[in-house]
Amino acid sequence: MNKYVKTTCPYCGVGCGIEAGVDEAGHALNIRGDKTHPANFGRLCSKGSALGDTVELKGRLLHPKVYGQQSNWTEALDLVANSFRAAIAKHGADAVAIYASGQLLTEDYYVANKLMKGFIGSANIDTNSRLCMSSSVSGHKRAFGADTVPGCYEDFALAEMIVLIGSNAAWCHPVIFQQIRAAKTANPQLKIVVIDPRKTGSCDIADLHLPIASGSDAWLFNGLLQYLQRHNAIDQRYIEAHTENFAAALKAAASSHSTEQVAEICRLPVEDLRIFYRWFSGHRNVISLYSQGINQSSSGTDKVNSIINCHLATGRIGKPGMGPFSLTGQPNAMGGREVGGLANQLAAHMDFSNPADIDRVARFWGSRAIANKPGLPAVELFDAIYDGKVKAVWIMGTNPAVSLPDADKVRQALRQCPFVVVSDCIADTDTTKLAHVLLPAQGWSEKDGTVTNSERRISRQRSLFSPAGDAKPDWWIITQVARRLGFERAFPYQRPVEIFREHAALSGFENDSRHGLRDFDISAFAGISAPDYDKLQPTQWPVNQANPHGKARMFEDGHFFTVSGKAQFVAITPRQPVNSPNKAYPLVLNTGRQRDQWHTMTRTALAARLNQHKPEVFVDVHPLDAERYGLLPDSLAWLESIWGSMIARVHVTPDQQPGSLFVPMHWSEQFASRGRMGALVNPVIDPLSRQPESKHTPVRITPYQAAWHGFILSRHELTFNDVEYWVKSKGESYYRYELAGETLPPNWPDWARAKLGNSGQSPCWQEYHDSGLGHYRAARIIDNRLESVLVISPRHSLPERNWLAGLFGRDSLEPSDRKALLTGMPPQDLPDCGNIICSCFNVGEKTIRSAIQEQGLKTVRDIGNCLKAGTNCGSCLSEIKALL
Ligand code: SF4
Repeated sequence: MNKYVKTTCPYCGVGCGIEAGVDEAGHALNIRGDKTHPANFGRLCSKGSALGDTVELKGRLLHPKVYGQQSNWTEALDLVANSFRAAIAKHGADAVAIYASGQLLTEDYYVANKLMKGFIGSANIDTNSRLCMSSSVSGHKRAFGADTVPGCYEDFALAEMIVLIGSNAAWCHPVIFQQIRAAKTANPQLKIVVIDPRKTGSCDIADLHLPIASGSDAWLFNGLLQYLQRHNAIDQRYIEAHTENFAAALKAAASSHSTEQVAEICRLPVEDLRIFYRWFSGHRNVISLYSQGINQSSSGTDKVNSIINCHLATGRIGKPGMGPFSLTGQPNAMGGREVGGLANQLAAHMDFSNPADIDRVARFWGSRAIANKPGLPAVELFDAIYDGKVKAVWIMGTNPAVSLPDADKVRQALRQCPFVVVSDCIADTDTTKLAHVLLPAQGWSEKDGTVTNSERRISRQRSLFSPAGDAKPDWWIITQVARRLGFERAFPYQRPVEIFREHAALSGFENDSRHGLRDFDISAFAGISAPDYDKLQPTQWPVNQANPHGKARMFEDGHFFTVSGKAQFVAITPRQPVNSPNKAYPLVLNTGRQRDQWHTMTRTALAARLNQHKPEVFVDVHPLDAERYGLLPDSLAWLESIWGSMIARVHVTPDQQPGSLFVPMHWSEQFASRGRMGALVNPVIDPLSRQPESKHTPVRITPYQAAWHGFILSRHELTFNDVEYWVKSKGESYYRYELAGETLPPNWPDWARAKLGNSGQSPCWQEYHDSGLGHYRAARIIDNRLESVLVISPRHSLPERNWLAGLFGRDSLEPSDRKALLTGMPPQDLPDCGNIICSCFNVGEKTIRSAIQEQGLKTVRDIGNCLKAGTNCGSCLSEIKALL
């Protein structure tokens, strides 16, 4: 490698520091964790470790496209500006909108927000962060008067008890989970409690798992508040000195239910609930770490405040080793919040509810047309597009046709919208397909700017390569459109550092005791030089005169950002989810991330090793439900809600509660014919945060009655427009397609030749066909090298794919390999290793199981020593432990 550049991982909100070894000539990347970065101290998870495999030109959007034709920047930008101008002139500023993303850098986000709110004059800019943590924002603002995360990662090592609520950190924030695991190893007395309807990988280190009924969290924390009061565990001095409204919160909690009733509502053993309450009450250093299981709810804001109430009541906030802690999903969800990327925010943590804030931002920007009221949040924004109220929308770096609830309606909304612009680094996504104008944005390895992680830490993301094709930074693209709209003077930017300086200056503008103190203040960076910006070290805000080197914890002095300076208890009356299961849709659908994929897979699916762990869309089903609904393990099932449907592979597991299902959120039309979970999810939202209830949709499940099942491994990409069910994943030197259909083709050999190709280089076919039983196997071999293999059966149980995939690594097939292809039994030197557990070293479940049995391995360390599994990124440790 020529040089190592320090940058930041573009995936989750942990915000890990990376050292990227760059070979400029070959675009090769060697990725290692940055040992000096305080977010991860050198650790990376499987996704971060595989970043080097995701940087490729294939699939990139390289040039602007206008109405499907390659174009140039001048034409494309002119069209965007003219179309926006025309829509505004005819229908008003609220007829246009931007839908942005937690993938944008802070500088991109700042410019987008400034253009929309400050100069176009509408607050119709929202972001996919709405789907992720807007309930935390609302909860923070109600309790603290500002959207402030009080603590920092350092606190995990100082805690006596960590409660994970609605958070499978083991899969979704793996490096934080590793830090908690390390804290537990160093201090076995550290109590870990997981509150989650599912038994997830995070339960691996838990002393107590509370498999709470979906949606009942606020009852549980109201019950805790009562318990703390009854057992004299509240901090009366803190409550009196630093908070308000305790009596009302307590009254609401007390009027709810007794511990026994809470246990009943939450469907928990009362003794387990008492243990949790006892532990919470008995430990001073408690961290409540919560995530999408809390936020993605029609009462998400109340759930957040029910947790914060318990911390305020015990004074456990603002000190080392304690506090409520929201884990953000995206790499720059926090940066988006700082610049006002949500439709109900102004920039720099200012708010539409305060006319002085509107005036302040307008004066700072020199804007005469600033929006004076909140705009449309995500779900309502796409409803407005569907209803024809928004005539032009600009989508930046996100894929709402997959990720938003009621995603089929979103797709229809975009089809109907008169003008859709998408800026993205990827050419083909479910959303780019619907765009009139495509603008090529720079990708992670090309972009330059800053991001902020879950603990308020601002880090630099640095450019590693020169841009692919005509790709440009998002801030540049927005600036060019702003200038064309006549706002040249307000958008003079030439470099990201200029935007960062302005952003920092705004954060400090009239931010004092005379005008009112705001939490977000990085004014110390307002004059940062370009070289210092280049060298900027990871720093936690605020960074100002009082805290020139940043600040680890907020609220240490008990001062909050409310009018009175005191934190606010919020009286919580718990509510059940809006849509309950019913006769037609008797099950609850939960959705979430899986270990090795990111969002709609546009980047992680490029890394072969990230596709091995869960290569297919799946649905977790409890054994009782599997029996009740006639679902066999590994068969296929239809899932249907009022809003839409999908097909997924059945994974029967006792880790799922009876009556509820779980599906991953990642699959789009690019990777599966019917795998978009967003199509099913109800579009119900929290009345305060406007965040959708993505974890509670009534659904039904039925077996998918396939006439045939099969799979293909092929060196070349294939298309299956005529097959009802297909799922694609990329392997090391092949593509894998899982297939099923309701109608049989007239003749399998003809179908195979049509699909796999039968021309050129004299392919040799090996075939086995039992037309009576419906079995067909074929291998296409060229120059004694495997080109493709196809297996068809009337049953869903098919040969393992891993050893077959191994044959693609052979330069020349042995006779035993050819025999294996025909019989469907692995050759001796390519044993069937089962599902891949350790993606870093490609170690499968069967290999681990036999090593445990045959060699008497007893610990995770034994397995690491023997097979290397789990010794690199550690993301698979929970699963290895489960096998033990
Ligand atoms: Fe990236 Fe993994 Fe770190 Fe998240 S935990 S920032 S995905 S390396």
